[in-house]
Amino acid sequence: MQPPFLLPDALARDIAARFGTPAYVYSQAALEQQAAEALAFPVAYGLTVRFAMKALPNASILRLLDRLGLHFDASSGFEATRAILAGIAPGKISLSTQEFPVDFARLQQAGIAVNACSLAQLDAIGRLFPGTPVGVRFNPGKGSGGTGKTNVGGPDASFGIWHEYATEVRKCAEKHGLKITRIHTHIGSGSDPLIWQQTSHLSLALARLFPDVDTLNLGGGYKVARVSSEKGTDLQRVGAPVREAFEEIARETGRKLRLEIEPGTFLVANCGVLLARAQDITDTGAGGRHFLKLDTGMTELLRPSLYGAQHPVTLIPSKPGISGPQRDYVVVGHCCESGDLVSCASGKPEIIATHRFPEAHIGDLCQIGGAGAYCASMSAKNYNSFPEAPEILLLSNNTPQLIRRRQTLAQIMQNEIRAAD
Ligand SMILES: *Cc1c(COP(=O)(O)O)cnc(C)c1O
Repeated sequence: MQPPFLLPDALARDIAARFGTPAYVYSQAALEQQAAEALAFPVAYGLTVRFAMKALPNASILRLLDRLGLHFDASSGFEATRAILAGIAPGKISLSTQEFPVDFARLQQAGIAVNACSLAQLDAIGRLFPGTPVGVRFNPGKGSGGTGKTNVGGPDASFGIWHEYATEVRKCAEKHGLKITRIHTHIGSGSDPLIWQQTSHLSLALARLFPDVDTLNLGGGYKVARVSSEKGTDLQRVGAPVREAFEEIARETGRKLRLEIEPGTFLVANCGVLLARAQDITDTGAGGRHFLKLDTGMTELLRPSLYGAQHPVTLIPSKPGISGPQRDYVVVGHCCESGDLVSCASGKPEIIATHRFPEAHIGDLCQIGGAGAYCASMSAKNYNSFPEAPEILLLSNNTPQLIRRRQTLAQIMQNEIRAAD
């Protein structure tokens, strides 16, 4: 598990000069290293690693991870289609969605795999495609998450079929001749390996109930440390007991289950930075605070406002060599919104924290680390009419390659229709 990727100062200045700020920059070398770690997950009888593409759905990223041997998890019909349009083979895409796609028949015929995430979805699949193999997403009854909002298992979570409804699942499958070949659970993005292990056992217990199941998908949720106070997941440690449990099932029943994992965060979070510029610096007088105002904010980085997520922030002075006294800054975004904070206390989006830098100047660059997952894909996009930031892939030979252009104001307005005055 690597610490967050950060650009060397000179390269950051070069990229900012060429592409402007704000901009996301992803490191190919870091992505390759994370993919290799995920593919080394301890396993007894075969492994498929799926990238949860909602974390970072840019086509160039999908294609890079595809070349590295990853498959994909799509969270909506649109995402599945987006992956296909990016050039991903439909057979490598698995769909687990809260909203059953209206064009599901087309996706199924294209060859994607699906996990029914509710009894209504299972019934709909059965009516459309009786007699086909299908996966089922269960809520195993337990969850894990950094905050209540990232916990997606247990009685308070709407994801998947409640584990006590296995009989209803079996009846529905029998009615349509569906063959349940895959069990799926995904319990959230917390860091508690114990809960993750317990859930794996609950999932294995569910797999025992369905004799046609050949694959167990344990979802994602492997946390990474973006800041030093956080603890990342050691995949070898988390996976070893799970491998033993798979071996035990094989000894007892002769069934050798294939394992699937679906990391989003783990694969990309620490592989990207958000490069921004200090566009103003203000203070609130003696005893007050110093504010570093960036040309980015919740429009590119929503996680601090949403979850109280913490990201490392470093300052790249525009005048190198001069390092003045250190000062505590509250780093804020550019939206007219008091919640647009980059500096907040862990898990508490409303509590202001500070970052300590050498004295900053307007025009200095800032990099926000750990910005590879759920940043470009999940933001308060176009709020205050700020255009979407570009995305850049830093190739292994250190060449920055533009993989998404900056949006224009005309593109923001393109679907508006003027009503008659
Ligand atoms: C979001 C999601 C993931 C990935 O979660 P991470 O915490 O980013 O690893 C995996 N599987 C499903 C079904 C998801 O919805």
